[in-house]
Amino acid sequence: MTRTLNLGYMLGDGIGPEIVPAARRVVDAALSAGRLPEINWVELPMGLTAIQSTGFAMPPSTIEALRDTDGWILGPFDNGSYPASWRESGERVPGASLRIGFDLYANLRPSRTREGVPSLRPNVDLVIVRENTEGFYPDRNMKSGNGEFKPTDDVALLVGVFTRAACHRIALRAFQIASQRRKHVTAVHKSNVMPTVFGLFLEECRKVAADFPDVLFDDVLFDSAAAYLVRDPARFDVLVTENLFGDTLSDLAGELVGALGLAGALNAGETHAMAQAAHGSAPDIAGRNIANPVGMIVSAAMLLDWLGERHSDAGLVAAAKAIEDAVDAVLASGVHTGDLGGSASTTVFTDAVIGQLDTQPGSGS
Ligand code: ATP
Repeated sequence: MTRTLNLGYMLGDGIGPEIVPAARRVVDAALSAGRLPEINWVELPMGLTAIQSTGFAMPPSTIEALRDTDGWILGPFDNGSYPASWRESGERVPGASLRIGFDLYANLRPSRTREGVPSLRPNVDLVIVRENTEGFYPDRNMKSGNGEFKPTDDVALLVGVFTRAACHRIALRAFQIASQRRKHVTAVHKSNVMPTVFGLFLEECRKVAADFPDVLFDDVLFDSAAAYLVRDPARFDVLVTENLFGDTLSDLAGELVGALGLAGALNAGETHAMAQAAHGSAPDIAGRNIANPVGMIVSAAMLLDWLGERHSDAGLVAAAKAIEDAVDAVLASGVHTGDLGGSASTTVFTDAVIGQLDTQPGSGS
């Protein structure tokens, strides 16, 4: 790939204006070190500042501009802090708007133990493959409006949706990922109390499993998965599940291996991908230059890896790996932000990762 990459980025709320620029600096450093394509960064409004200037948390102009990009970084958003007028507007939260709008159906959330980072359990190395466009999240289940209803003051309902097509493609993505890893997929479900929806989900998982005879397939109940994750997470390689279950288990997995601030994630469809850390906007620590930028940095690395695979560009794949290795090396050296018990600021940690990239083989400096 020789042309310039067009990458969008949205700072978002809370710690977003601190961690998104950190990720951007690391990507620039990784690409310049490997003499790879240059990036044309496009900053686009999203979140509270966008509401103040346009009335939308995810302005239509931002969505249009994203269509012309190769991918983008989405900062965290804090919709709980948005004004009542926004809530009344019925607009989806920014992440959901993009996941639905660009059909980013696979949310990939890896968790692994890293040298130098205190971990509640040893030898964790797993990926949660979370269906992103339906399931138990009612805000993405209706063509218009929200799938939550209140027929009376004392009754609340929600719409959960499971389609065969969505179950099939998320299962396929999980098996494709597992075949590049330790070749084990575990489907997480709750078919004992919801046999219809999870019966359909499991049917599609089993169909896909038949096409991957070298990948071990098993399944586990959602509540058991939570218990096993704490008791023996090394048993898992790739977990595939619906939206809400995946969101919950990935926070658990993130904390198991150190802290939520380490957890990166990619939202991927067939034509677009979005880097978005698994954690939220952390308003309790915003504006103090103490947030852990690792989750955002490794999310950006996942985006580079996805772009590399998509464009058959081994250099981009290598740049993604270089970022992961640099983050590992800095964490192993004991440079930690406050959430890991250290005293490094966001900036100091980011500078250390960039310094580490400069020392790697293939570096241009
Ligand atoms: P959301 O619902 O948007 O995912 P949340 O309410 O679950 O968000 P977060 O914003 O992720 O919560 O924060 C949960 C806790 O983790 C807070 O104490 C926050 O400070 C901490 N935290 C989250 N991300 C980071 C980070 N990058 N660095 C340090 N601490 C973080």
